[in-house]
Amino acid sequence: MILSRRAQFETLFPDEPAFRWKQIEAGLFSDAQNWSQLSTIPKSMRDRLASLPWMTVALEQIQISMNGDTHKALLKVDGDKEIETVLMKNPRGAWTICVSSQVGCAMRCGFCATGKMGLTRSLTVDEIVDQYRFWMNYLSTSSTLSTSARISNIVYMGMGEPLANYEEVKNSVNTLLAHTDLGKTRITVSTVGVLPRLEQILTDKDWPHIRLAVSLHSAIAATRKHIVPTSYDDFLPKLEDWAKRYLELFGNRRHHLTFEYVMLKDVNDTPAHAKALADFVNRIGHVRVNLIPYNLTGVEFECSEDATIKQFLAALEDRNVTATRRRTMGSDIAAACGQLIVLTNSGKAG
Ligand code: SAH
Repeated sequence: MILSRRAQFETLFPDEPAFRWKQIEAGLFSDAQNWSQLSTIPKSMRDRLASLPWMTVALEQIQISMNGDTHKALLKVDGDKEIETVLMKNPRGAWTICVSSQVGCAMRCGFCATGKMGLTRSLTVDEIVDQYRFWMNYLSTSSTLSTSARISNIVYMGMGEPLANYEEVKNSVNTLLAHTDLGKTRITVSTVGVLPRLEQILTDKDWPHIRLAVSLHSAIAATRKHIVPTSYDDFLPKLEDWAKRYLELFGNRRHHLTFEYVMLKDVNDTPAHAKALADFVNRIGHVRVNLIPYNLTGVEFECSEDATIKQFLAALEDRNVTATRRRTMGSDIAAACGQLIVLTNSGKAG
């Protein structure tokens, strides 16, 4: 069990008032490069803080796509474990970062490379937050990127299932909301749909109401079960019921739900699938669909043809469903959705 920086601080200084930790945490997001530079903290305290990790992730390798719009970092955590995190230029000219929430993943989705790794362990709040701090530092020290470059969005779409690491993910989002300029609409947590945790979100006072994306991939039960092995017979009606309650409680003009849908040739891309998806979405209400062209990770699946994706999109729009198609980024460096994998024996990404 790895103790968080906060827990280590509270062990070292059990009697400090609560504001002190907030002050230290703010320092982690400042220009300071180590504990001794935290000028807001008394010197004697700074000296003792040196036993806490300033950074819990260490750069091993950076890969940059040919067009310079996608940067993928292989990071070491906890000495010997590896994760990947991605920096992508977004249409607003700022940067979106994609963070990992676990080392590997237990969900085994057939089309996802991370699923093939199995789960090593969940990341701690520090290891998640430090992926943001890593990119913050990268942007401010890079000689090729503009010095005004900033992170405007965070997506929890890297390795792992965020809701299988509920507490640490929640704490990391709350920390990022407290110490960065990112608002709640700029952070998206993507989940395969862990229903007990989705239920918990409805009543958890500490859950920050950021954007949620559910990886639906099919509104036909048998198809979903085929590609998402953690699915089960009554998953779809249960998700529908949950989504209605979620939107009743938290939906508004700016707050909707997103369903992600990876386009797999002849698997979930037929007109019957489009109709089932549209009917499912229309029964729920304020939902947007995000179609993700499948990024190659193995031999089992192929991406739907471009024309099929267009037809699928049109079939959704004809039924009044708001749908978009995700731009594929970084596929030349295996940094696109579902391509994040760390092979334990070769230690190489991709
Ligand atoms: N465990 C979370 C985060 C996964 S990654 C979840 O399931 O949502 C974010 C998105 O990329 C998910 O919708 C995931 O299903 C999708 N994805 C995974 N592998 C992919 C691939 N090879 N091509 C395109 N999208 C993929």
